[in-house]
Amino acid sequence: MEKEQYFGVNVSPLNYEEIIQDLKTRIALREKSTIIAVNPEKVMAAEKNAELMELINSSTYQIPDGVGILLASKLKKGSIRSRVTGVDMMDRLLKFAADEGHGVFLYGAKEEVVQKAAENIKAKYPAIHISGTQNGYEKDAGKVVEKINAAKPDLLFVAMGSPRQELWIREHMNHLHPVVFQGVGGSFDVFAG
Ligand code: UDP
Repeated sequence: MEKEQYFGVNVSPLNYEEIIQDLKTRIALREKSTIIAVNPEKVMAAEKNAELMELINSSTYQIPDGVGILLASKLKKGSIRSRVTGVDMMDRLLKFAADEGHGVFLYGAKEEVVQKAAENIKAKYPAIHISGTQNGYEKDAGKVVEKINAAKPDLLFVAMGSPRQELWIREHMNHLHPVVFQGVGGSFDVFAG
């Protein structure tokens, strides 16, 4: 897929459905895939931070979360015309996981928040298999990795704020069972209602 570039930051031009279709192939091949939300604030921060720039650009999908990206794409005669938000992407992936029988794991936020989010997700998509949950305040990363792997999920959502969540994903991805990884910021709080 051809990426668009804004101040050196790659942005994926795919919409929700195209990302899901692309992921189907990648999951079948067990190719690790990462999703990161991009907005103008992140583009500005990445301009001054080479590590953040690299982190964003090495992700599989840089979704256009902020409206500023749409405007920039229009001005540069790019093809991005609608937002792909982090929270809606997660919601679409949850539906996809429920439909296709993929297990999901929720890692991040406070214990009561992640529990409530899991409960509400299960109520919304009864067929979903929630492999497990873990709050975002466990300091021992090894323990978290072990817990996730024991649960064998296919999709992992990490809600610890950006870029902390994406750095955690990058550091541990190769030792983790899931194939699809999304850093989702405050989205568990949204699902918890
Ligand atoms: N959080 C966490 N562990 C931490 C710090 C934060 O799990 O050590 C959680 C926090 O409880 C909240 C989320 O990360 O649910 C932070 O979301 P925020 O809205 O700040 O992220 P953003 O969307 O701004 O990246």
